[in-house]
Amino acid sequence: MAARDKRKADENNIMGKIVSLSKRRGFVFQSSEIYDGLNSCWDYGPIGVELKRNVKNAWWDYMISRRNDIVGIDCSILMSPKVWEASGHLKNFTDPLVDCKECKKRWRQDKLEDPTKCPDCGGELTEARQFNLMFKTFMGPVEDAGSVVYMRPETAQGIFVNFKNVQTSSRMKPPFGIGQIGKSFRNEITPGNFVFRTREFEQMEMEFFVPPAEDEKWYKYWIETRKQWYLQNGINPNHLRIREHEKSELAHYAKACSDVEFLYPWGWDELEGIANRTDFDLKTHQEHSGKDMTYFDEQTKEHYTPYVIEPAAGADRATLAFLLDAYDEETVAEGDTRVVLHFHPNIAPIKVAIFPLMKKDGLPEIAHKIEEDLREYWATFYDESGAIGRRYRRQDEIGTPFCITVDYDTKENNTVTLRYRDSMEQIRVNVDDLFETIRKEIKNYKPSFKN
Ligand code: ATP
Repeated sequence: MAARDKRKADENNIMGKIVSLSKRRGFVFQSSEIYDGLNSCWDYGPIGVELKRNVKNAWWDYMISRRNDIVGIDCSILMSPKVWEASGHLKNFTDPLVDCKECKKRWRQDKLEDPTKCPDCGGELTEARQFNLMFKTFMGPVEDAGSVVYMRPETAQGIFVNFKNVQTSSRMKPPFGIGQIGKSFRNEITPGNFVFRTREFEQMEMEFFVPPAEDEKWYKYWIETRKQWYLQNGINPNHLRIREHEKSELAHYAKACSDVEFLYPWGWDELEGIANRTDFDLKTHQEHSGKDMTYFDEQTKEHYTPYVIEPAAGADRATLAFLLDAYDEETVAEGDTRVVLHFHPNIAPIKVAIFPLMKKDGLPEIAHKIEEDLREYWATFYDESGAIGRRYRRQDEIGTPFCITVDYDTKENNTVTLRYRDSMEQIRVNVDDLFETIRKEIKNYKPSFKN
């Protein structure tokens, strides 16, 4: 791994604030918290699960639903161990592990700035040992060598072994892709940074099969296209960059690889990798399985093994990046600040909150009716407790872009207050125009950034 640019130390402790907001408002909880937690495992709460689902849906929409050259798949996590032998994971899916001879801490050697010294105590480090990252378990009642299976460390292999099934059943011709979202497991040596590096995580991967002569064109296309996806969904362009891998960094199967990097509080780090995997995967599975994995081109009457361009993203890392870029503390008036998450409405966990000004005089009934109508289209939230200003702030904190308040005028003229999260501007809108007004606002939403 090349040395990373150091960003200014996390002056405002934004990670600490995100972790505590996550717990307070139900984005992310520590796994098994009542038993003191399980290292590097996290649970998404009611608001967090909506956020992460929106991130995954945005990916699926952009990568699969809205394209006619990519289809989806959902493979099982457990696969034949022969898959991992063929793919090279049993032999090569390792990280170099070093121990500090003084304090006994373990490190991933390739992530250390000085690979000879412990970053904590400066002690001498042991020689690196290659540590396989795959989780092993047993299938069936007998725990012997014959029943060993592995939890998949990536979703990609499920796609490769199904290449023929998908290609023939969907009658796809290269260039075409197969995408998948699902859990992957890696026994990471140094998990950490909240949901950035965990041992159980979710990936959003797509394998794009192309004629070999077109690999470089599609490699460039996918780097640009994936970058656009992050920008469209509200990532600050100044926090995103593409980093091409040095030849020495490339995985055994890759001809080229570029990372989409994000400026995390600890510096630039990987968000997504886009690799040119050549014909390595299909060829190796053909060799090991003895099954034909080539594509027959009707026009040229030739069989060939397609090359693969792979954009591989992490749902958890993307969710963290969206959270970090959305987070802001704003001075509203002297001595009054608000915490606000400026999510793009596409990924905001709740799109519209509806409040009756008072808990009486028929206002709750009108508000409930509006909520029911809008709930058909968007995730909504009804709240009638506390002062109206506090209710707005509670929604700001979870990034709800629109709030609607029903008041006494509503009974007179059928209008409500529509309040915008970002500008805090309030306008009067006729109840009958609410849907159309909000729909347009979401469609035309443009994020604004301070830095
Ligand atoms: P790193 O260098 O950070 O370990 P990687 O290069 O091994 O990552 P890939 O194999 O390219 O990662 O996986 C594709 C994507 O899956 C990554 O860009 C990341 O978003 C996600 N991912 C990989 N490992 C983890 C993990 N341990 N926790 C959370 N997300 C992960």
